[in-house]
Amino acid sequence: MVHIPQTQSYATLTQLEQQLVDMAWKMAAMAHCPFSNFPVGAALVARNKDGEEKIFGGNNIEISNWGGSLCAERVAAFKAVSEGFKTIICTAVVCSSKPSGSPCGFCRQVLRDFGKDSTILTVLDADNTVRKWQMEELLPDSFGPESL
Ligand code: ZN
Repeated sequence: MVHIPQTQSYATLTQLEQQLVDMAWKMAAMAHCPFSNFPVGAALVARNKDGEEKIFGGNNIEISNWGGSLCAERVAAFKAVSEGFKTIICTAVVCSSKPSGSPCGFCRQVLRDFGKDSTILTVLDADNTVRKWQMEELLPDSFGPESL
């Protein structure tokens, strides 16, 4: 039986979670998606080895050789990891032209590798109704760095 979290209103989110949702919309507005016309924005907060936390945004970036394109969640995650912020705490994702999207399988694995215990907020509509997922719910019984 698959568990799907109850929907939550924007008002029930923490201030940080609201900030991530707001930034995800802003990132979606800057997506480079001339082929799919499916803008996605992501924003996440991650921690570095010194315990500092920082917010990173990402959006989907498409190139003419489709396979080299990258999803918003991975752009945000790789920006964080590239700066040493390797522990993802919470990620918000919005598909601005058709809210209610959810991270693809590749992105779930990346978010899991760097955020095994993280939370993922998927925005469901223009009013910012969200589902708040735990990583384990989006990728149960997962493989990760500790498996190697
Ligand atoms: Zn993806």
